[in-house]
Amino acid sequence: MKTIQLYDSREARLKPVKSLRGDNIIRMYICGPTVYDYSHIGHFKTFIVYDTMVRFLKYAGFDVMHVVNITDIDDKIIRRANEEGRSYREVSEEFTEDFIANWRALNLLPPYALPRATYHIRDMHRIIETLIERGYAYVADGNVYFSVRRFGKYGEISKQSIDDLIAGYRVEEGEGKRDPLDFALWKRAKPGDPSWDSPWGRGRPGWHIECTAMSSKLLDPPFEIHGGGEDLKFPHHENERAQTNSYIGGEAVYIWTHVGILKMAKEKMSKSLGNIVTMRDLLRIMHPDTIRIFVISTHYRKQSEYSDEKIREAQNIQRRIQSVYTRLLRAEEGGIEIDVNQYREEILSHLSNDLNTPAALSTFMSFLDELSSALASRGLSKETREDALRLYKEIQYIFGLQLETSLETRGILELLINVRKELRKRRIYDVADMIRDELAKKGVILEDIGEDTIYYTV
Ligand SMILES: [Zn+2]
Repeated sequence: MKTIQLYDSREARLKPVKSLRGDNIIRMYICGPTVYDYSHIGHFKTFIVYDTMVRFLKYAGFDVMHVVNITDIDDKIIRRANEEGRSYREVSEEFTEDFIANWRALNLLPPYALPRATYHIRDMHRIIETLIERGYAYVADGNVYFSVRRFGKYGEISKQSIDDLIAGYRVEEGEGKRDPLDFALWKRAKPGDPSWDSPWGRGRPGWHIECTAMSSKLLDPPFEIHGGGEDLKFPHHENERAQTNSYIGGEAVYIWTHVGILKMAKEKMSKSLGNIVTMRDLLRIMHPDTIRIFVISTHYRKQSEYSDEKIREAQNIQRRIQSVYTRLLRAEEGGIEIDVNQYREEILSHLSNDLNTPAALSTFMSFLDELSSALASRGLSKETREDALRLYKEIQYIFGLQLETSLETRGILELLINVRKELRKRRIYDVADMIRDELAKKGVILEDIGEDTIYYTV
């Protein structure tokens, strides 16, 4: 296979993906959600892209350790908690659960870790203390600020010089700052807000230090890949880089990747779809494969648009992939040979080129055209059929598709799960177990998690 290359935003060039320590592991840190509301299709564009990247790297033979953080303390969370008379913890846990449920429904691989920021306050203290000792940070009346000018290479990710920034970019407000560019590592507690003890008095962490603490603790920088939405380049990633680099005394990240934002084409949306923006509502009416196909139909670095038309296109592709698959499974032996491997090589070469999923998908669709016309005429040879099924499985894995579970099948599965739940409630365990065992024989595994039952196919 060709060397996999990814675009590094900082050096503005394609770089070969390699394991920095030669242990075959790619360490990846992805900036996760701030959990103050239900997840949105826009957030999941980023996570679907990274899931595809992780899957492709694993397919290519790497081991991947990917960490996705949960920002569970923030102004918006506190505001919502105060408005609803709840604790910040109740709010953040509710929306963390929503995030995880969507993650599962969309068939994203479980991350190596899903750390919550507030579980790493001590780690943040340790890093802040080191930064103060080395002169990169200073204390001002219970706040701690990072000194941006002390870190010389600020602005390389978002391609802005310190002078540009001073000339008008937004700078954080703060008491006792020596320079308007400096940003908070630790914020003095405001009355009534959640706060933690610290060497500088009670307070709470700044947003950026969270990611430095969690990536340093879990991935031990330097690490291979850092990810997040394009909107995080400045100030978040500039600040994160300034902190982590100063803390470890070197370049913390080998490749900084960024995903183009998803725009909502409101004027181009039908009423029904236009109102649906939360992932949990969207998943009620749409096959998860359709959502994944919609996302990978645009190159990850480009902005994409969520519109009726785009969703319809993705739906057509999903149905095509599903229907040719069903025909292929049922096909009887015939005489046509297709060079499946040529398509495979082309797909992999597109994916190796900065994860060009739209080109890979389009090659796969051409393959389906050839397959489909062969199935309609003299049929496929035994070898071609077997290799076509193998390529299907590979594509299914890399794109994270669930194939078998069409929307109708999902409806029936959910009905069976509910019937089984009711049977268990009434202590009719033998029939409940029969449902579980029979489904397992068909490759559908039910797993009880607390009150809930999830299912997946094997
Ligand atoms: Zn982050």
